[in-house]
Amino acid sequence: MKVVFLDRDGVINKYPGDKAYVTSVKKFCFLPGSKQAIFRLAKAGFKIFVASNQAGIGRGIYARRTLEAITRKMLLEIEKSKGKINKVYYCLHRKEAGCSCRKPRPGLLRKAAKEFKFSLKNAYFIGDTIRDVITARRAGCKSVLVLCGKEKLANRKNWEAAPDFVFKNLKAAVTFLTQNQGRFSTQSKGVPV
Ligand SMILES: [Mg+2]
Ligand SMILES: [Zn+2]
Repeated sequence: MKVVFLDRDGVINKYPGDKAYVTSVKKFCFLPGSKQAIFRLAKAGFKIFVASNQAGIGRGIYARRTLEAITRKMLLEIEKSKGKINKVYYCLHRKEAGCSCRKPRPGLLRKAAKEFKFSLKNAYFIGDTIRDVITARRAGCKSVLVLCGKEKLANRKNWEAAPDFVFKNLKAAVTFLTQNQGRFSTQSKGVPV
């Protein structure tokens, strides 16, 4: 089974900024090319899961029903583009709660692997932060960092973990994944942007 995890903010939709949240449907804006990239992933036979921290819920900054409305909009728009997300996993807890699902903990990924019965070893996690890279590593997935969100290449000296692959955006990552499906393990690390 070919599996890709996607972080949400900064990968699918515009990064809302440091310590900021997407607090309304209106503020959820797809990044250019992301819907098309998801379509291409689905077409290539990948199962696609979203794994996202939304601590703004736990912190009471926006309501659960708002998050549900945002998710519905996201899934509907993706479906309109003939893409498909198999399931969306959120951690809604604040950092202080010490839950096992808040990234960089691998709980969300493990839950998906258990529910859909696949091995994390052959899965990819595409995220826009080093926290996502660490999550992937802890879960035993391959990490793909995209530079269309929080993280910038100029800051790479400060990265706490080295991504297996780095790409400009989801579109570029998907091009690579769909051209090399199933053969990553033999590839050298750190494909330049
Ligand atoms: Mg993100
Ligand atoms: Zn959690």
